[in-house]
Amino acid sequence: MPVSGLPPYDPSNIFARILRGEIPCRKVYEDDVALAFHDINPQAPVHVLVVPKGQYVSMADFSANASDAEIAGFWRAVGKVAKDLSLEASGYRVLTNMGVHGHQEVPHFHVHIFGGRNLGRMVPPAKD
Ligand code: 5GP
Repeated sequence: MPVSGLPPYDPSNIFARILRGEIPCRKVYEDDVALAFHDINPQAPVHVLVVPKGQYVSMADFSANASDAEIAGFWRAVGKVAKDLSLEASGYRVLTNMGVHGHQEVPHFHVHIFGGRNLGRMVPPAKD
C-alpha cells in the first residue's frame, strides 16, 4: 500500500536493476531479504550500501509495508555487514537519505555504511 506523499516505486531504478542482476555490483553480503555492495563513488575508505530486496521507496514505506521478517532481517544484515567489515572497534556511521532535503539519489530504500576514517560530527554545513 502506498504511503501518502511518497512517489510510487520505480522498478527501473538502479538498485532494482542491481537486484535483478542486470547491472554488476561488488557484493559484500546477500541473504533472503537484503543485498550489500560497495558504493560506486565511495565517500570514505569503507562505503557500503545495504538494500532490502523488496520494493520500498523510503524508510516510511519500508517500515509501514515490509513484513516483520523483512524488517528484522534487513537490520540484522546491516549490523552483520558492519561487523564483518571489522568496523565495530573503530566505529562507523549508518545513514539513510530520504527525498529532496535528504538528497536521495536512488528511490529504492537503502542505508549507507561509512567507516575507515574519522567521519567528523553529524551533518556537514549545507552548500545549497
Ligand atoms: P542516495 O543519495 O540515494 O542515498 O545514494 C545513492 C548512492 O548510490 C550514491 O552514493 C551513489 O554513489 C550510489 N550509486 C549510484 N549508482 C550506483 C551503481 O550503479 N552502483 C553502485 N554500486 N552504487 C551506485
